Amino acid sequence: MRPRPLLCYAIFLSPFFLLALAGSNPSDSSSTITPINWDLYHSSDDLMEQIHSLVHRHQDKLSIETIKSGNKGYSAEINVVTYSGSGRRRESNDDRSNFRILLTFGQHGRELITSELAFRILSILSEEQFLPENNGPSLNRTLEKLVVKVVPIENSNGRKRVESGDLCERRNGRGVDLNRNWGVDWGKKEKDYDPSEENPGTAPFSEPETQIMRKLAISFDPHIWINVHSGMEALFMPYDHKNTTPEGLPSKKMRSLLEQVNKFHCHNRCMIGSGGGSVGYLAHGTATDYMYDVVKAPMAFTFEIFGDNQTSARDCFKMFNPVDLPSFKRVLNDWSAAFFTIFKLGPLQLDENSTKAAEKWVSIDEYLDGYLVERKNRYGKNMEVIDVGMQEIKTYFRLFLLSSVLLMFMFCSRIAKSKYGRNSIPVMP
Ligand SMILES: [Zn+2]
Repeated sequence: MRPRPLLCYAIFLSPFFLLALAGSNPSDSSSTITPINWDLYHSSDDLMEQIHSLVHRHQDKLSIETIKSGNKGYSAEINVVTYSGSGRRRESNDDRSNFRILLTFGQHGRELITSELAFRILSILSEEQFLPENNGPSLNRTLEKLVVKVVPIENSNGRKRVESGDLCERRNGRGVDLNRNWGVDWGKKEKDYDPSEENPGTAPFSEPETQIMRKLAISFDPHIWINVHSGMEALFMPYDHKNTTPEGLPSKKMRSLLEQVNKFHCHNRCMIGSGGGSVGYLAHGTATDYMYDVVKAPMAFTFEIFGDNQTSARDCFKMFNPVDLPSFKRVLNDWSAAFFTIFKLGPLQLDENSTKAAEKWVSIDEYLDGYLVERKNRYGKNMEVIDVGMQEIKTYFRLFLLSSVLLMFMFCSRIAKSKYGRNSIPVMP
C-alpha cells in the first residue's frame, strides 16, 4: 500500500490523539502497538526454509534460484520459485509457448501477510494444500499450460528490520521504497511526499532488489504481472503515475478480469481502477507502470489484500496484517482462490488478439510447421506420413502460391488490355 494523504495527517495527529487518550485513561496508551503474532506468521528465515523444502519435495514441478546483487556496500538477494505446470523435465521454463505469470510478494517490509499468501499459493500448486472449492480436472488442465514465477519475499532486508521491531518499515535495507525506484516517471514528488515512506532512491534502478526484478521480468516476459501488497483491499491496474487507465481493448480485458475477481473473491469490497485514479494520490516510479509500459506485460496489476483502516497509523503490524486466526485464515483462503481464478481466466482473456501474439510476425514456414505439427498430434501415429513429407508439402505449397499469383497477374493484364484497347489512353484529371 502507498501512503494516503489521510495517513500522513493521521501520523501527524496521532501523538496529540494519544496524549488525549492518556489524559482520559493512562492505561490505553501502552496497548496501542500490536507486536508480530509469531503463532500465525513465519519469520522470513523460517518461511524461506519451508519453501526450500517444499521445492525439494516437488522437484518435478518446482525449482528455486537465488539471485544476488549489490552496490556501494549494500547487497540483496531474491529467491525466485518457478512452477512449471507441464513438468520441469518436459519443457524448459523459458518455453515461449507457455502462459507466463510473474508474482511478487513482500515488496514492502511490513506487509508480512503477502509472503504467507505466496507460501499458500506454492503449497496449492504442489498439491500439498487445496483450495476450499477445488474443481480438480479443469484446474489441472489450466495449470498444465502455465509457468508461474513467484518471488515470496522481494524485500528481505526491509523485512528483517520489521522483524527486529521496526514494525512500520516499508523500505529496503537502506531506506529506499522499492515501489518508487522503477523507471517510469521516476523521482517526481507529490506535495505530501514523505521520505520515510516513499524515498525513490538516488536514480531509477539504484537498488539491487529493483535491478534483480527488472532483469527477471525482461527475461521471463510475463503475460501477467501481479505486485501483491497490503494496507487496504484493492485491485489496481495501470497507471499509478497518472489519473487514467490505458486506452482500448487491453485495458478493458484487465478491468473485466478484476471485476470477476472482486465479485467472486473480494465480496465486491475491493476498489478497482487505476492506482493513481482510485487512491487519491499519484505514485511515481512504480513496478506495475514499468511492467505495463516497458516490459509490455499485457496485464499488470497491484493487489492490496488486507487493511485495517480502524487502526492507529502507528500500529503498523495490525494495520497491514490480520492479527487473529480467523481473519488470517480468511485472507489466505479468499486470496489464494483469487489467484487460481486468475490462473484460469487470465489465459482465456488473452487467448485471442493477445498483445504479445499480435506483435509477433509469423512466416509461412512457421505457420506450416505449427499447423502440420498440430495436425500430426491430433491424428497421432496415423499421420506420420506428414512428418516424412513435410519439406515436400512446403515446396508444393510455395509453388502453388507462386503459380496462383502468376495466373492472377496474367488474368488481370488480359482484362486491362481488352477494356482500354491499344488506342485508348486514360485522361489524367
Ligand atoms: Zn505496500
